[in-house]
Amino acid sequence: MANEKKAVIVGAGLVGALWSVFLAKRGYTVDVYERRSDFRQAGYIGGRSINLALSERGWKAVEIAGIREKIEQVAIPMPGRMMHGLDSSLTYQPYGHEGQAIYSVSRGGLNIELVKIADEMENVRFHFNQACLGVDLENNTARFQDTRTGAEHAIESDLIFGTDGAFSPVRQSLQKLPRFNYSQQYIDYGYKELCIPANADGSHQMDTGALHIWPRGQFMLIALPNVDGSFTCTLFLAFDGEISFETLKKDEQVTAFFEKYFPDVIPLMPTFLEDFKQNPTSALHTVRCNPWHYRSKVLLIGDAAHAIVPFFGQGMNCGFEDCTILDSLMDKYEEHWPSIIEEFNANRPEDANAIADLALLNFIEMRDKVADPKFLLWKKVEKHLAEKFPNEFQSVYSMVSFSHVPYSQALAAVAQQEDLFHRMLQIKDLESNWTGPEVERVFREWLAG
Ligand SMILES: Cc1cc2nc3c(=O)[nH]c(=O)nc-3n(C[C@H](O)[C@H](O)[C@H](O)COP(=O)(O)OP(=O)(O)OC[C@H]3O[C@@H](n4cnc5c(N)ncnc54)[C@H](O)[C@@H]3O)c2cc1C
Repeated sequence: MANEKKAVIVGAGLVGALWSVFLAKRGYTVDVYERRSDFRQAGYIGGRSINLALSERGWKAVEIAGIREKIEQVAIPMPGRMMHGLDSSLTYQPYGHEGQAIYSVSRGGLNIELVKIADEMENVRFHFNQACLGVDLENNTARFQDTRTGAEHAIESDLIFGTDGAFSPVRQSLQKLPRFNYSQQYIDYGYKELCIPANADGSHQMDTGALHIWPRGQFMLIALPNVDGSFTCTLFLAFDGEISFETLKKDEQVTAFFEKYFPDVIPLMPTFLEDFKQNPTSALHTVRCNPWHYRSKVLLIGDAAHAIVPFFGQGMNCGFEDCTILDSLMDKYEEHWPSIIEEFNANRPEDANAIADLALLNFIEMRDKVADPKFLLWKKVEKHLAEKFPNEFQSVYSMVSFSHVPYSQALAAVAQQEDLFHRMLQIKDLESNWTGPEVERVFREWLAG
């Protein structure tokens, strides 16, 4: 059929699977090629519970795809963060207004759900065990190798989307082009996943209404709830240095580290030592590149275009927002791909770079600042201002997690709001006057510039 709308998607991860639903809903015939075997049968990443924070930008995309209700059933609301002090004290701090929350969702569960929904659509076909080897850009051809037989084949398509993640082979083909900008920056920290299991009766051992953080200055542990009663914990720690993965090699070193810095976790995590030794230590990096496309034929989205560190919980949300934005551009330009891709590439990389920067900044906030009483006081003032002046003030956290304000706008607000914070700190007895008239006066003065 001459007018048949067709697309190839490389990578059936979170973004690729979701994007196939968007395209199929518009009548495209979509072929999705995935390196892994079918995880609906094979299970997801060795069966480990890995969870992600889903927030407003992600929900919007999930809603457009028509699967909000399904995901809501397995998403656990986390309206705030719970800080665990060294002395086992607990400090709770809401993320936003009453009723606002970020949500803990199982990465595997969400990916499987997205693939199921897409596969139920008659115009989407999944091809598992197909590892992309690269794209012949001049001939619009993606090359694949069957991971079971080793056989290679090529697929031609006028529209190829690279949703093949942070180490994208599709991007690697673009990297060979002249004037393609690319940077990859690792941070000095790695992460290791650990687990707080469910109680014997299947209930959770801690409050599920929060993202739990053990901020320890130069490192931190976090925990997000799973629907099976467990919590997935992630330890973020330097690779090298005095307190680092490098110095936690022997059992007694690991045990001493947990006893010193996370004493309240030990009774909750009976297998921490085994988990620590068994689970890999993984690296974290940021990928920035531009352009994200080759003519109007090949386009990168999701981590393939913009991998970021996880400290704002936005990598997937950002990738899902790519889908929402492309969808609205498809309306605007009546599916004229040269115009869609031109506008997308003109604006979106700046926002992706902004959330990459915000994510790096948020690491310092999570591991260090959240334990600072001044910072917690500022959070109270922020909340008060947002409630009293909803049209004039929105915190950076809220812009990122509870709105669709472009990320670049949120990044620009960081320095402005830091200035407001320092002005507020000059107020005498702010601790007892954080809703008082002086706060409003300083706010108005700041607003006026
Ligand atoms: C520790 C950690 C915590 C995180 N927490 C959050 C969070 O709380 N909130 C959030 O929004 N984000 C979070 N993220 C980020 C999030 O996981 C990613 O942004 C998201 O998975 C990106 O989706 P994607 O589909 O672009 O890439 P991926 O999920 O990586 O999917 C890429 C797919 O492409 C496939 N593929 C790769 N190579 C090939 C090939 N050669 N051929 C064919 N297929 C291939 C892969 O198998 C995979 O299925 C976190 C990330 C990490 C590491």
